[in-house]
Amino acid sequence: MQLKNLFSLTIFITTSIVFGQEKNLRNIKKLTFGGDNAEAYFSPDSKSLTLQVTNNDKGIPCDQIYTLDVTKPDVDFNSLKLISTGKGRTTCSYFMPDGKHILYASTHEASHVCPTPPKSPDGKYLWAVYPEFDIYIAGLDGKITKQLTNSPGYDAEAVVSPDGKKIAFTSIRSGDLELWTMDIDGSNLKQVTFGLGYDGGCFFSHDSKKLVFRASRPTTEKDIKEYKDLLAQNLVAPTNMELFTCNIDGSDLKQVTNLGKANWAPYFHPSDKKIIFASNHHATRGYDFQLYMINTDGTGLKQITYESEFNAFPMFSPDGKKLVFSSNRQQDKARETNVFIADWVETDEAENANVANLKKHITYLASDELKGRLTGSSEEKLAGNYIEKEFKKLGLKPYNKSFKQEFNYNVRLNPHDTISKGKANKGTNIIGYLDNGAKRTIVIGAHYDHLGLNEHNHSTKMNSEGEIHNGADDNASGVAGVLELARMLSKNKTKENANYIFALFSGEEDGLIGSKQMASTLKNLYPNVETMINMDMIGRLDDKKSLVIGGTGTSPSFPEIIEKNKPAGFNITQETGGIGPSDHTSFYLKDIPVLFFFTGTHTDYHKPSDDEDKINYYGVENIVNYVFRTSNSIADLKTIEFTKTKINAEKIVPKYKVTLGIMPDYTDNGDGLHVDGVTENRPAQLAGIQAGDVITKIGDCNIKEVYTYMECLAKLNSGDEKEVTLLRKGQVMVVKVKF
Ligand SMILES: [Zn+2]
Repeated sequence: MQLKNLFSLTIFITTSIVFGQEKNLRNIKKLTFGGDNAEAYFSPDSKSLTLQVTNNDKGIPCDQIYTLDVTKPDVDFNSLKLISTGKGRTTCSYFMPDGKHILYASTHEASHVCPTPPKSPDGKYLWAVYPEFDIYIAGLDGKITKQLTNSPGYDAEAVVSPDGKKIAFTSIRSGDLELWTMDIDGSNLKQVTFGLGYDGGCFFSHDSKKLVFRASRPTTEKDIKEYKDLLAQNLVAPTNMELFTCNIDGSDLKQVTNLGKANWAPYFHPSDKKIIFASNHHATRGYDFQLYMINTDGTGLKQITYESEFNAFPMFSPDGKKLVFSSNRQQDKARETNVFIADWVETDEAENANVANLKKHITYLASDELKGRLTGSSEEKLAGNYIEKEFKKLGLKPYNKSFKQEFNYNVRLNPHDTISKGKANKGTNIIGYLDNGAKRTIVIGAHYDHLGLNEHNHSTKMNSEGEIHNGADDNASGVAGVLELARMLSKNKTKENANYIFALFSGEEDGLIGSKQMASTLKNLYPNVETMINMDMIGRLDDKKSLVIGGTGTSPSFPEIIEKNKPAGFNITQETGGIGPSDHTSFYLKDIPVLFFFTGTHTDYHKPSDDEDKINYYGVENIVNYVFRTSNSIADLKTIEFTKTKINAEKIVPKYKVTLGIMPDYTDNGDGLHVDGVTENRPAQLAGIQAGDVITKIGDCNIKEVYTYMECLAKLNSGDEKEVTLLRKGQVMVVKVKF
């Protein structure tokens, strides 16, 4: 009795949890309570499920098939009705078209005992394809009415076409694991697939014309041998599988995914134009399966689940209103897997970042035609015109009567020259406004200028004058992000709880000039700006999916928002400081909370080789979607508090191989980098550098201010020994620093 009360309590608590980022799933409800519950599939009337259950505590040690009525408001263990014989092991059940019979595979005929699961010699994760499996039909009372297969070897994974005419299943009868079909009465057997590898887990499209399935396709000699050796022991390693579709006669075979790792448990979306499936392709460590959706042509990959590290076996109800899936979320005990049901909510197609758009923007902006987009150049104008045209296409309003905001400044062409004022230059920010009639406004920005032909001497490549510095990552990637977010936020059907200013800055590479200009008058024009989000270099996501997010300490709400909207497999480094090496700094200094998205420095940083073909579009797409979710979460906050953060420059750019151990002054004093403080037992302190010193040179690099300092640090390696020139109370000193 107490157990039952506990279960009701669990239902109450779990259904009240809302994970805002799982936007397609509403009213998620837990249907099973303990053990291993999986492969739950709907009846034709959407009212019942058939599923596979193992639950040692309840005396079910070996996968058996149960049904569950999902129309009742309360469910517990007693709601499950046994269908299979209780003997041997079963798998993969499915309702027959009449809703009164269940199809499943079972080993009970060969032996009543539970077949032992495989033990891998080297600890590898393996699936058993028990040869004893044959396919049976039973009534809802559990009585077997028909045996559909009796060939030797594995026959299982049977599903029924929505039109009720066909059964598709996996069989080893040809010598390899292939898909087969038969008529609903068991006649007219046909082999559907022929490729070497495990073809299985298929489902019909809603029009009954197509099959979607997952397959391993070993191609190297070593992989083929391993596959065949395992299969001879009735085993498969489900570590590399991609999704495929074909007509039910096997024609028009197409590979849908090419993601790597395990992509499986596919099911057609009610439109038959998309496929939902489970995947760990994103995983950077361990076990982590999430549900994804992808178009049947392989485009538009979208993450559906975010909660827990196992989500699989998704199936839409035949009426398309519900999704059932298995998950490790809401566990009462470690290792248990339960079945969940949720209302399926279609999300707005316009709200997905589109890789083709991102690629188009980056390819144009980083092309040789734009000659590196130097501030003040005619190619800066071309880039600006391109951005303005995009804004007009989206129907954005000009920021301040015009989309263009011009600014004048002096650029010092010779870093050794600290006396002259430099050459007068002019730059132009391009800024658009999306009016949602909201009480708060969020700025989403990125700089679009870059180094041109190195006329302003910011290149990290020696003697690169005259070479085009294309700046694909720095920062065509961020510009593409802003343009795509402008499209997503203006073309979707939702009016967000914020207005948006989309700001593309110039003059960034010369010292955040454009953003400083915008920030200086922003609050007069838009007093309700409450957050600024900056993207600078988001194009080089690495294999570990490392993403730095700066400014998370500038509002107390940010760390949680960053965490809960995180894409699967990403390793996020949250840096609290509001001051960093990019344009968000200008807004932070006006007491606006900021966030800064950055995939890190690399060997092409500020070199002519920062090219479009090195962009990781999977990364850009995921980051843009992440910024979209993040900005929505921020827009929905009751209040957005601003917090001043400690200056912590060395943590902002963690990819530097060395650190000096100083607290730098960020203001450009014109005579070098002013040291505000030194950290104990770090290279600076050990070399005798003190607070108040002004660093003017490290090795061969001249240090003008914090940006040239950071660029210099990026070139150093651990163990390097360099002479550091500094001014102490007006006296020039040289110390030796070991990094
Ligand atoms: Zn740069």
